[in-house]
Amino acid sequence: MHDGIYFDNSATTPMEPRAAEAMRPFLAGAFGNPSSLHSAGREAKAAVDRARGQIAELLNAKPEEIVFTGSGTESDNLALLGVAESFGWGDCHIITSAIEHPAILETCRYLQRHGVEATFLPVGRDGVASPDALAQVMKPATRLVSVMAANNVAGTLQPILELARVAHAHGALFHTDAVQMAGRIPLDAERHSFDLLSLSAHKFHGPKGVGALYIRQGAPIMPLIHGGGQEFGLRSATENVAGIVGAGCAAQIAREEMAEEAARLVRLRDHIIDTISETIPNAYLIGHRYQRLPGHICLGFSGLEGEAIKLLLALDAEGFCISSGSACSASHAGQPSHVLTAMGYDPIRARGSLRITLGRFNTEAEVRRFLAILPQAVGSLRSTAFAHVRTVGVPG
Ligand code: PLP
Repeated sequence: MHDGIYFDNSATTPMEPRAAEAMRPFLAGAFGNPSSLHSAGREAKAAVDRARGQIAELLNAKPEEIVFTGSGTESDNLALLGVAESFGWGDCHIITSAIEHPAILETCRYLQRHGVEATFLPVGRDGVASPDALAQVMKPATRLVSVMAANNVAGTLQPILELARVAHAHGALFHTDAVQMAGRIPLDAERHSFDLLSLSAHKFHGPKGVGALYIRQGAPIMPLIHGGGQEFGLRSATENVAGIVGAGCAAQIAREEMAEEAARLVRLRDHIIDTISETIPNAYLIGHRYQRLPGHICLGFSGLEGEAIKLLLALDAEGFCISSGSACSASHAGQPSHVLTAMGYDPIRARGSLRITLGRFNTEAEVRRFLAILPQAVGSLRSTAFAHVRTVGVPG
């Protein structure tokens, strides 16, 4: 049981107790296989159908447009590989942005190795991809444009409606990796005419290992996993019934509480940004000041870029779970972030950011405690770093 202060809600979120409670019967007594015709199977199928409806409502989509997968990563893979396969892989051009999650970037690189042409759209200093820049790289063979709804490192929101419009004007499909946005900001698949959209339950207080892909009815796509034909033939495998039930419940709660919760997180977020800019000299915000996820703050501290991991560990010792914005996994910690590099930060700055991401269970008191501790932690690391420079001498 974790009892620290958890400010890493973009990595994953604490489980919503109401969703855990909804899962409980399906972890024990209600064990049926949704494909079975008998009563135990029908009970499981009804639970999966209900959850499909709850996810569909979160996106204003139809239940039959939702395919459950095993993760956000799998949803992204299904979208890209499934569309490329439906076009026969040849004569296929895909456009994505340079700041996508590896679930998209690595899938595009895989496609490139198999003859698909891929273009990586640049972003500006604020992390935003421009619809005009997209229009310039569209080609007759462009089948799919995939741009994330919100970035996991910088927190910046992308102009996905305009980007979708450009893709459609050129006859291409539009996919968005909405793993960071779904459950935090309203999404309307029907009105905004996305063709495909990925989400992941553990980012909105649901269980890990459950993703979904929204597929607009009629969009051309082929399965990656072949077998018994579950999930409308697009994702064979016996369903993770308990996980899907938890995801559905978490989606319903996120939808019902979204407006109030997003406003609360924006207040806390802006209070943190304003207070840090007043109390810590030479701190800088990474990403767009306003076009950002409600609880997402990405910061750098001039002179401390090489010490970001030390700062993270100093805060960890005070009980705060905070992420370095440098890379999305501990195994890459300390390496420059491809997101910040694409945003024009030099390799030193791209290695040294701090990501604070708030969620449903964070309180004002926790924020106050953090703001009381951070200036001191930055100050003492800066004085050590400065003492080191004095000891070794400054060249020239
Ligand atoms: N896409 C984005 C933007 C993410 O932030 C993540 C997870 O961090 C993923 C995809 C992958 O989701 P999952 O952890 O469910 O595989």
